[in-house]
Amino acid sequence: MEQRRIHKTSLRGPRPNLDDYDATVARFSWAEAERLLDGLPDGGGVNIAYEAVDRHLKHGRGDKVAICWLGKSGERRELSYAELARQSNQFANALEGLGVQPGERVFVLMGRLPELYVALLGSLKARCVVTPLFSAFGPEPIATRAEMGDARVLVTTPGLYERKVKGLRERLQGLQHVIVVGETSAGGDGVHLWDALMTPASPDYTIAPTDRESMSLLHFTSGTTGRPKGAVHVHGAVLAHAVTGRYALDLHENDVFWCTADPGWVTGTSYGIIAPLVCGVTNVVVEAEFDAQTWYDVLQRERVSVWYTAPTAIRMMMKLGAEAVKAHDMPALRFMASVGEPLNPEAVVWGLEAFGLPFHDNWWQTETGGIMVSNYASMDIKPGSMGKPLPGIVAAIVRRNEGGGIEPVTNPDVDGELALQTPWPSMMRGYLHEDERYRKCFVDGWYLTGDLAHRDADGYYWFVGRADDVIKSAGHLIGPFEVESALMEHPAVAEVGVIGIPDPMVGEVVKAFVALKPGFEPDEALRRELLGHARKRLGAAVAPKEIDFRSNLPKTRSGKIMRRLLKARELGLPEGDLSTLESDEKK
Ligand code: ATP
Ligand code: MG
Repeated sequence: MEQRRIHKTSLRGPRPNLDDYDATVARFSWAEAERLLDGLPDGGGVNIAYEAVDRHLKHGRGDKVAICWLGKSGERRELSYAELARQSNQFANALEGLGVQPGERVFVLMGRLPELYVALLGSLKARCVVTPLFSAFGPEPIATRAEMGDARVLVTTPGLYERKVKGLRERLQGLQHVIVVGETSAGGDGVHLWDALMTPASPDYTIAPTDRESMSLLHFTSGTTGRPKGAVHVHGAVLAHAVTGRYALDLHENDVFWCTADPGWVTGTSYGIIAPLVCGVTNVVVEAEFDAQTWYDVLQRERVSVWYTAPTAIRMMMKLGAEAVKAHDMPALRFMASVGEPLNPEAVVWGLEAFGLPFHDNWWQTETGGIMVSNYASMDIKPGSMGKPLPGIVAAIVRRNEGGGIEPVTNPDVDGELALQTPWPSMMRGYLHEDERYRKCFVDGWYLTGDLAHRDADGYYWFVGRADDVIKSAGHLIGPFEVESALMEHPAVAEVGVIGIPDPMVGEVVKAFVALKPGFEPDEALRRELLGHARKRLGAAVAPKEIDFRSNLPKTRSGKIMRRLLKARELGLPEGDLSTLESDEKK
């Protein structure tokens, strides 16, 4: 694909924290970055909640707004750092009052309510392990995760408890306490009302010494490629959140930051809670689900300056057109970033058209705990590229060899597996109960990501596809992203997922599933036009041979296109684990 370049000549806002990529990489060390953290008093180690909340009080920032919560019905609530410290202290005391021990698991199942943030931070203070679950999960995904993670406490709402959890109590014998935010008649069985626990609890709490290697969060992966894995993270990961908040998201003290991800997914925890608070900014939390108009209103009204969102949302906004954005006035907005899926070059450029700013793509995984490859505020963007490795992260493109080892791919533009040199602070420390699977991710001091990519001569990394999704056709390796991005250039296309289907002659041929923008008819003429467009852009060997129109593509709840499901349905194969599939896509 030809390379465009967005030059960073006139930057909006303050001088970027990372103003010279090469110089920063050359002088960076994780040991030196420790200065970004305070550490618990008296050499008591590192605790995420202390870095995110309490230490700001010590530095005179207690009155600053930590969380600006925007409720579904138009409510607006501000929690200062001091208030967040008090409430999370109360929650930590409440847990101790219940006899919950450090290391025990606290699951959180609720929408984006202020209590979620209080419960998560309070649990970390008590050195419990937190697992946030997506509130739209049905009883089965809740039960399997709670069983696997040995949930001792669950924090939820009355409605979710009644509908989804109550019927599981018999099965979840380890679940001793359910803390319900709001009124419920469901008593007994270790059910406690939030207010009844919190009101008498002391607002003072001293965090006990916390080993930075102790477990902090257990996060389940998105389930895009199969059954979700439980990635184990530690308190010391907060150093990576402090660094990426500053370098990758360019957070400055006076920023108003909004991460649109739900804390049920790692982005919503690492960047929807931890990184912005660690950086001491004001963190906007929007309870409502995606709606373009609501989102533009939030950006304008709250004067959001740094915005972190995802390709699926960007594509939905693109579908509605740039005019709706331009009808708003967003002078404060200065930096936009995206994660979760490959960001098509069209989407990066559309950002410029609609917001006057490009989207900065970055790449990471539940397993990496934080952003690993990123486009930085000061660095030119090559649309379609994920950017360059974070200072402190050594990335490589490798191939696995016959002997079970790996070899580096040193030539530019050659595809291989993206690998990261171990360790780094936010690296997962295990897949819960899956040691063998965990060990297989590491070879010769490198973590193998399972994603294919290449690096160009300027050091930019380009996503090719997940190893599972790559299509092998007549000796070529075809990454679905390249084909999808070419189709996305066509004005009729809103969304596209590409898979390989078996072919007796060439191994596999490329098939595309396309959702159209409003006003376009899924007819034969358009199908032929799209096939022709793709052939012209990609050449006959890479272009799809077939295109099917769909009104929607199957996606995970975190918004990722599930290519494995498109393929399973196409070939009549078992559909596998569907626990994270968006419900309206379920058959
Ligand atoms: P599972 O591992 O359960 O199949 P998942 O890999 O989707 O699910 P996550 O950890 O949430 O779970 O997602 C990480 C993956 O998302 C990456 O490995 C990559 O495939 C994809 N991804 C994330 N960001 C980007 C990006 N900027 N460009 C391309 N792909 C991305
Ligand atoms: Mg994965």
